[in-house]
Amino acid sequence: MKFRKKPEVVEAMQWNGDNRKGIVAFMGGNPILSPIQDGDKLHMPTSTGSQVALPGDWIVKRPYAGSEHFDFVPVRPSDLLKHCECFDFEFDGTCGCCGFKDVPVKLMPKEKAYICNVCLVEKTPQQRMVKYRENLEAKP
Ligand SMILES: [Zn+2]
Repeated sequence: MKFRKKPEVVEAMQWNGDNRKGIVAFMGGNPILSPIQDGDKLHMPTSTGSQVALPGDWIVKRPYAGSEHFDFVPVRPSDLLKHCECFDFEFDGTCGCCGFKDVPVKLMPKEKAYICNVCLVEKTPQQRMVKYRENLEAKP
């Protein structure tokens, strides 16, 4: 018999250089495990030591072996795309950020826009907001 491992679902939140409170809440709010902000960098305490998150990095929630605890590890956007696909998006429409049509898009209620998988992972919310404004101004 052959078996294929079930695909693993990971939760992640993007560090944008200015959303430490959101990241702390995502991490469960434990003050001892809270990351330390240094300018637009975030020092993440992990089970293997401190790791630095840069703006745009995704903070990925990972269980650590043989325990019920989680590690919160910064992952570069390109590395996340290499190993993961984002699946909670809807299938049709136009990306409000890059403007591509017929791409899978996700509704971002806070940003009041639909964006594609690529823009979601590669751009920070601030970068997307700039694009939304440019796109609105470009419209006749
Ligand atoms: Zn896009």
